[in-house]
Amino acid sequence: MGKILFFNIPAQGHMNPALPVVAELVRRGEQVICVNTAEFRQQIEATGAEFREYPDVSDLEPLMKEAGAGDIARNAVTLVQIGERLIPFTTDLIQREKPDCVMHDTLAGWAEMTKRRLNLRAVALCVTFVVTPESSITLPVPLMLHTLYRYARLFPEYWRTARQIQAQYQVKSVGLLDALMCLAEMNIVFTSRQFQPSGNSFKPHFKFVGTSMSSRPSNTDFPFEQLTKRPLVYISLGTINNMNVEFYRACFAAFGAHPGQFIMSIGKNTKIADLGEIPNNFIVRNFVPQLEILQRVDVFITHGGLNSTHEGFYYGVPLIVIPQQVEQAIVASQVVKYGAGISLGAKPPFGKVTANELQQALAKLLSNTEQYKTQAKILGDSLREAGGYARAADEIQAFMKNGSA
Ligand code: UDP
Repeated sequence: MGKILFFNIPAQGHMNPALPVVAELVRRGEQVICVNTAEFRQQIEATGAEFREYPDVSDLEPLMKEAGAGDIARNAVTLVQIGERLIPFTTDLIQREKPDCVMHDTLAGWAEMTKRRLNLRAVALCVTFVVTPESSITLPVPLMLHTLYRYARLFPEYWRTARQIQAQYQVKSVGLLDALMCLAEMNIVFTSRQFQPSGNSFKPHFKFVGTSMSSRPSNTDFPFEQLTKRPLVYISLGTINNMNVEFYRACFAAFGAHPGQFIMSIGKNTKIADLGEIPNNFIVRNFVPQLEILQRVDVFITHGGLNSTHEGFYYGVPLIVIPQQVEQAIVASQVVKYGAGISLGAKPPFGKVTANELQQALAKLLSNTEQYKTQAKILGDSLREAGGYARAADEIQAFMKNGSA
């Protein structure tokens, strides 16, 4: 039995694909210790892994709640600063636990720096598309210019922190442009090579394992018996960038008189009472059992979070993607490229669509539904065939045994 020390990130979207991998490693007899905030203790312990709590990361939690949105450069600098603060804690923990394998999320720069400081090798878990020169991902030009400007403005602040890291801990800081993508000797990527932009250009130490899903406890009070009409459409903006009342109202205006039925998940931070009158053909909840719902629906109107997108394809559901931020716009363009859905409002300011645009997009998708469904299924197959959490566990165990990818 080996020991794995896993430095997580306090964000549900990062934990959802990682938890089934952790559970599988524990099931195979490995000892896994996960480091996170107290909010995730229960989910971690439910896998059979041990929990350790980060010291004060009160600035990390709000950053994770908006990661990817807003100011990418600011988030990168803040992550390096948090990294500087966490190096002593991370070093102590690694030296005390003496793990056979250090594992970290690609945002956990403190783990990446500490493993270099201690001359160890590590496994990184990547829950987004991999962004490196190989992926040739480009941002829309105005956003690219703004981001470069912000990187230039914040460079002195980054440089001060990088110099302190070098002076205090004798290790080179993660680069400013790498802070949101801290890679390792082996990288488990939760998408398929096919769906990853330029997937075939990545070297073998990138293991594209597809969707890592296991059955989740669901809220049983969802009224499945009321789902009687077709088409059945599911609408969700995910769990983070979802406070978009204007969008929810546009959906009511677009589809309130539609013969189909609509399930809408609005997230825990928006009050149902604030949405105004809800049409009879809508079921609105703050949170729904998404996996069970996707197995029944004809169309998924989504923000294009990578988990939601994968889950839709896993069940062969075509998408209308309405990105709320830049990372999701990249997902949207891949969905369109493969003909598995339609994208709307995919440029800054993100998330703005009219009722008319929504109506037209749904009509377009339904008029050619078999073709979109076929493409969604092809991507779903690529995600399934990539092996999921079991393949991720195979790769991690092989890495522990051989010391290389
Ligand atoms: N989710 C869910 N019920 C909901 C809304 C979301 O179970 O009502 C789950 C969904 O299945 C997915 C995750 O929350 O696994 C959202 O992750 P994603 O990467 O799609 O978006 P994020 O919330 O990170 O923006």
